[in-house]
Amino acid sequence: MEIVVVPCLYDNYSYLIINGKEAAVVDPSEAWPVMKVAAEKGLTLVAALCTHHHHDHIGGLPDLLDEYKNLEIYGFHQDQKRIPLITRPVEDEARFSVCGLDVDVIHTPGHTSTHIVFAVEDHLFVGDTLFGAGCGRLFEGTAEQMVHSLDRILQCGKQSRIFFGHEYTEFNLRFAAQVDPVNPAIDERIASVRKMRNADQPSTPSTLEEELATNPFLRIEDGSIIDQLEREHNLDSTDRVTVFAALREQRNNFS
Ligand code: ZN
Ligand code: FE
Repeated sequence: MEIVVVPCLYDNYSYLIINGKEAAVVDPSEAWPVMKVAAEKGLTLVAALCTHHHHDHIGGLPDLLDEYKNLEIYGFHQDQKRIPLITRPVEDEARFSVCGLDVDVIHTPGHTSTHIVFAVEDHLFVGDTLFGAGCGRLFEGTAEQMVHSLDRILQCGKQSRIFFGHEYTEFNLRFAAQVDPVNPAIDERIASVRKMRNADQPSTPSTLEEELATNPFLRIEDGSIIDQLEREHNLDSTDRVTVFAALREQRNNFS
């Protein structure tokens, strides 16, 4: 298996999962950058995997279908109304096979109520649930749902590789440095991400281990993050959902 990162639109990432001469695309924001890589590598695109219904994740589907008539489109069964092009609706904990590879589905409500993550071996395609040093905005789900969704991702193990949907890492790390100021891993990651970005390299994928060390939304039990939040907000409790909600709100107002 080979993964190719395909930058799309302004800061989106689509991914090609390649096995032999077959490929599946995750979150095709646009068709042409995906088709270009497929043509260069002589690949047949057999499937599209859609993490959620937002246009910047599915906008390329119609043009891809024009080019690849047999393209199978996988998406969450409860997203069929919002992604009418789905041909293969999948449920939470479903396992299916594309390009000879097993894909597992994890329902991760929070950013949207119908968001899913695709797991291929230890590669997690997390869409807008988790980002480098951040997480998706809560457009439809609650803080409680998102905490649960992130916990399910954490169950996949530290060595999992995280392929996220947007290049927000540098900005997210600035926020992380503010809310978690005594964490040296954040400074190290800022330096390494800056290097990548200056060389025009994507900061995706990361590992879950790296996120656990630097992503404040996975560190909601950390004493210094909680102390910081208690100074900013009047937290009535320090349970994980309350901490997460306060942190998410603080991030929404961060600029
Ligand atoms: Zn989205
Ligand atoms: Fe998005």
